Amino acid sequence: MKILKDYIKVNKTNDNLFYLQRWRIISGQPGPKIVIIALQHGAEVSSFFLLEKLLCYFRQFPLLKGSLVILPAVNVLGLLKKQRQEPFTGLDINRQYPGNQDNRATKIAYVVAKECQSAELVIDLHNFTSRRSVFTGVMVKSNRLVEDKAKQVLRLFDPELIWYINSSQSSDKEQAGALTVWLGQQNKLAIALELPPPIVLTEGFLNSLLERFLVVFEFYGLLTVDLLKCVTVKRSISVYTSRLIRMKVNGWFWPTKEPLDKLKSADKIGDQVSLVDFKKKSLRGLPGVLLTIAYPGFIMAGKKVATIGKKIGYLK
Ligand SMILES: [Zn+2]
Repeated sequence: MKILKDYIKVNKTNDNLFYLQRWRIISGQPGPKIVIIALQHGAEVSSFFLLEKLLCYFRQFPLLKGSLVILPAVNVLGLLKKQRQEPFTGLDINRQYPGNQDNRATKIAYVVAKECQSAELVIDLHNFTSRRSVFTGVMVKSNRLVEDKAKQVLRLFDPELIWYINSSQSSDKEQAGALTVWLGQQNKLAIALELPPPIVLTEGFLNSLLERFLVVFEFYGLLTVDLLKCVTVKRSISVYTSRLIRMKVNGWFWPTKEPLDKLKSADKIGDQVSLVDFKKKSLRGLPGVLLTIAYPGFIMAGKKVATIGKKIGYLK
């Protein structure tokens, strides 16, 4: 087994060279390739703590089959600037798939897409920014076979809930061009995990998440850790589609609900105070379950404040 660290050239021309860091853990035996993508959104650094544990694990224990490829910092300049978007273009890399040679963000998407094409499974790591969040698995519209596999894998990760994205529906339009959505459209298996933000990450959560990754690798035959047989069905996981609630004014938002709170029609989810006249107005949601909600702070009009889920089923 080898652990290789190298850099993928992003620019096709030789002016203004830039690279993406890549880790490859190669068993030397035939088998599936699993790709882990991290930091498409530069401010979402929770994945680092997990990837550090994963690399640490593979420095001690072998991969038996196939390979694991990790792109740990897709939006490296966003990371340095602590921002979601790619700083040169202001674009969200995770809306640019399959990418092209137009600009820096689309060029990055292009090389990430290429790395993912030959993967049996792609796991895209993100984190919520609000400390009021729950560990969420994301699956996307695909064919039945791929969706069933996604459910199997998500079951092993054991998130608190699953968010189902169908970008052809108007409520999910804004997810078009996301890596998992694009791969799903080609019937390739890709899931995303939304971790809690670093401020609320605990050693216990990270260790159990590492264990869940190992279980998934074992499920694919990449290693033997004897954890898979310990995974029992503890509970059913709810699957939701979601709709966004946006800020109505430029101003401060103060949430009055928590994630997983149930909402009836027009229930208040928080207060918004206009920056212009300091008038306070209630912000109301939709019937369903609150999946995410912003923490108290300034939010521009039109930006996302909350997502409200409609339950469409269970994973048992
Ligand atoms: Zn993200």
